[in-house]
Amino acid sequence: LSEKLQNVFKNLRSKGRLTEADVKAALREVKMALLEADVNFKVVKGFIKDVQERAIGQDVMNGLNPGQMVIKIVNEELIRLMGSETTEIKLQPGSAITVIMMAGLQGAGKTTTTAKLAGKFKLKGKKPLLVACDVYRPAAIKQLEINGEKQGVEVFSMGNKNKPADIAKAAMEHAAKNGNNIVILDTAGRLHIDEDMMAELQEIKEAVTVHQTILVVDAMTGQDAVNVASSFNDKIGIDGVIVTKLDGDTRGGAALSIKAVTGRPILYVGMGEKLSDLEQFYPDRMASRILGMGDVLSLIEKAGAELDEEKAKKMADKMKKAQFDFEDYLDSMEQMRKMGGLSSIMGMMPGMGNMAGKMPDLDSEESEKKMAQMEAMIFSMTPEERRNPDLLNPSRKHRIAKGAGVDIADVNRMVKQFNESRKMMKKLPGLMGGKGGKRGRF
Ligand code: GDP
Ligand code: MG
Repeated sequence: LSEKLQNVFKNLRSKGRLTEADVKAALREVKMALLEADVNFKVVKGFIKDVQERAIGQDVMNGLNPGQMVIKIVNEELIRLMGSETTEIKLQPGSAITVIMMAGLQGAGKTTTTAKLAGKFKLKGKKPLLVACDVYRPAAIKQLEINGEKQGVEVFSMGNKNKPADIAKAAMEHAAKNGNNIVILDTAGRLHIDEDMMAELQEIKEAVTVHQTILVVDAMTGQDAVNVASSFNDKIGIDGVIVTKLDGDTRGGAALSIKAVTGRPILYVGMGEKLSDLEQFYPDRMASRILGMGDVLSLIEKAGAELDEEKAKKMADKMKKAQFDFEDYLDSMEQMRKMGGLSSIMGMMPGMGNMAGKMPDLDSEESEKKMAQMEAMIFSMTPEERRNPDLLNPSRKHRIAKGAGVDIADVNRMVKQFNESRKMMKKLPGLMGGKGGKRGRF
C-alpha cells in the first residue's frame, strides 16, 4: 500500500495550497486504507467527506508534498475523532462504591477484562469486588473465580439459580459490609444482539445503581462492531468502551467505528490473554495503526522536526553572536507554545536558563504566568527597542512597566537577565552549535 502512496505523491507536484485534485487523489488511498483496516463503510464515507472539505485550500507545510500534507490532515482528524486524549473510568467521589457493569457479546472478553480492570484498580489502592452475573454457562463463574484469585481480588457468586439482577443486589450488600469500593458486574453475553440479553442488562440497571456501563468489543469483529456498539448504546446506554484482542493482526478499525457511532470514549485496549495485558488507549497510536502508514507518518513528523530545527539553528547562530534580541525572544516563546512544553526548551532561552533551576515545575501555571508577563513587557517595547535592547534607559523602562502593568523592578530584572545570558553566550562559543534535543528541537 505504501508503495502505491509513494506513487501518488510523485504525481502530485503542485506547491502552495492543496488543490481539489491533490486532495482527492490522496484520499482515494486513505479510503482504501481505512476499509482494509475494517472501518465501517459508512464511517469511512463520512470521514472522507469531512477531511476533503477541510483539506482543500490548506497550505502545504514546508518539507512535505501535497499528498503527505493530506495524510497529515487525515491523521490529525483520526486522532480528533477518537478523542484527543486518554479517558479514565470515572469513579464515585470519596468512599462511595462505584458500580461498573461490563456488557458485550459472548467471547468479546468481558470476563477476562473484568479481572484485568480489577488488577488496575487494586494497584491504585482500591478494593474491587467481582460479581459473577453470567449464570448461563457454569464455566463462566469458575472462570471469573480463577481470574479473581490470580489477581488477589474477591469474587462474589451465587451459582446459577438466581437472576442476574438479584445477584447484583446481593453483591451490593456484600460490598457495603465488606468495605469494597468498586463493584464490577461480569454479565452474560450472547452470540448476537439479542432482546433477552438487553432486557437482562436493563433489569440489572433497575436493581442497582450502575455508574459506568462499559462495552467490551472484540477488535477482530471489524465492521460488526458498529452494529454492536450502536445497539448497546441505544438499548442500555454505554459510558465507555474497551476494545480487546488488539494483539492480533487486525488494524483495529473497529475502534474508529465505535467512537464515530456512539461518541463514547475508548478507555482501554486488550493486548493479550494475560491479565496484565490491558493498556491505556492512546488515540494517536490507534490512528497510526488504523491508517497503516507508519512510514509516511514518521516522514511527516520528521519534516515537522526539521522545520523546527531550521529555526532553532538560526536562533542559535544569533545567540552565539550575541545578536539575540527581544524579537527573537518573542519568537522562541511562540515556538515553545507550539511545541507544547516549556521545560524542553526553557533552558536554552536567555534569562530563562537561570530561572530554570529555581523553578520547581517548569510547566506550572506560575511559570506560564511569568512568561505571559515577560511577553507583555516585550509587547510594550517599540520595535526599535526590541531589536536593540541597549536603548533601554530608565525613562523607556518606566514606560514599558506602565504599558505591561508591572513594576519597574520587573522590567529591570528581565533586562538584566537578558543581558547576562547574552554575555554568557558570547563567552561560550560552541555551546549552541550542535543539534538540540533528541529530535533536533530546541
Ligand atoms: P466473555 O465471553 O466476553 O466473557 O469473553 P472472555 O473473557 O471469556 O474471553 C474470550 C476469549 O478471548 C478468552 O479466550 C480470552 O482469553 C480471550 N481474550 C480476551 N481478551 C483478549 C485480548 O485482549 N487478547 C487476546 N489475544 N485474547 C483475549
Ligand atoms: Mg464471560
